[in-house]
Amino acid sequence: MNVRHSGIGMTSQRTRNRLIERLRVQGIQDEMVLAAMNAVPRHIFIDEALSSRAYDDVSLPLGFGQTISQPYIVARMIEIMRDGSPLNRVLEIGTGCGYQAAVLAQLAREVYSVERVKPLYERAASYLKELQVANATLRYADGNTGLPEIAPFDGIIMAAAATHVPQALLEQLAVGGRMVLPLGAQEQYLCLIERHAQGYRETRLEAVRFVPLLMGKA
Ligand code: SAH
Repeated sequence: MNVRHSGIGMTSQRTRNRLIERLRVQGIQDEMVLAAMNAVPRHIFIDEALSSRAYDDVSLPLGFGQTISQPYIVARMIEIMRDGSPLNRVLEIGTGCGYQAAVLAQLAREVYSVERVKPLYERAASYLKELQVANATLRYADGNTGLPEIAPFDGIIMAAAATHVPQALLEQLAVGGRMVLPLGAQEQYLCLIERHAQGYRETRLEAVRFVPLLMGKA
């Protein structure tokens, strides 16, 4: 792993350990998720000018009007999706800087992540390459249609808020699979969708704040 942004103190394992301790206090219990968050250096994904805040529990600007989610929400969504079970094939909508995809890659056998903004897609791809994350595949595409050629997925995470659940994603969720997404416009909440043999079950969870899911590629 290269040592970009090193020597300014925030790259140390100690700083990351503090983040993990904070996530525990905030209620994250899944040890596998905590270990994955501990393993991925968040500062690599963040503009150097902001990297002193890389391990604060805040969302940060990514450019192009987008934000990297705060560590708590990344951990929380993955914890809900995983539900204590190993993940095989996972889809993320909204790669952004690629941080969440890198965390997911620690926990799932295969990760697919879709981004509609080309420069973000390209930058995320270079970060994942730098970190030698080999089991995450990025696609430059509109996530509303998912990836039918790769489906089914046993987990789907959306990192942008939709006003309704895209039908294509429901169809691409495996039976027994779990999807976690922010739903709503002004008022948003996290939604868990579980697919059973007989249909889908939707559970409304806590209030959240995400950038909107947009249509088409940019
Ligand atoms: N998971 C990201 C956070 C991304 S923010 C991270 O770890 O950094 C949400 C992202 O969703 C933005 O990059 C935005 O461009 C993307 N997005 C919004 N609508 C989309 C769509 N229809 N398809 C794919 N990506 C989309």
